[in-house]
Formats: sequence, structure tokens, C-alpha cells
Amino acid sequence: MIVTCNECNNTFEINCDMKLINDIEVTYFKCSECNKLYIICCVDEYIKKEQRRYKELKKLKNESLKKICHKNITLHSNMLKKKMLKENAFKDL
Ligand SMILES: [Zn+2]
Repeated sequence: MIVTCNECNNTFEINCDMKLINDIEVTYFKCSECNKLYIICCVDEYIKKEQRRYKELKKLKNESLKKICHKNITLHSNMLKKKMLKENAFKDL
């Protein structure tokens, strides 16, 4: 996927990396020009559990619960990202 950096307008191909920080899997990429960090998602045990549940619900075709489950995952991932930004946990990426 090709993206444009918000910071320097450089256009580049995303090259994702994954790193474990405090038992949380952080998926991210950096601008090839200015090195600006972009966090794609943060996954902890809770999210892994919800992702498994999501797959099950998909099989069962339970649309309403599937939606709630997806919302849980998104909210929790955003919350983790905010918390980690506040703690400056991404400084070594
Ligand atoms: Zn940039």
C-alpha cells in the first residue's frame, strides 16, 4: 500500500514492522523520508481473546454480537495506543 506522510508529504510504500512492548504487540511503520512514526495497531491479550471470539461469531453468523466484538477491539486498541503514547512507550521504535 502506498501512503503519503502527513508531516513531509513524501509518498512511499508501507513497510510494516512489529515489536513487543510491555507484552503488547505494536504494529507500525515509519516515513522513509522524515522517519515520522505511524502506529497501526496495538494488540494485547484482551484483543487476542476478542479476535478469537470474532472469528467464532463470524462462523456462527451472529452479526449483532460480531459488531459489538469488533467495536470492543477497536476501542481497546485505541485506548492502548493513547495510553502508550502518554507513557512515551514508542520512543524506541
Ligand atoms: Zn515524512
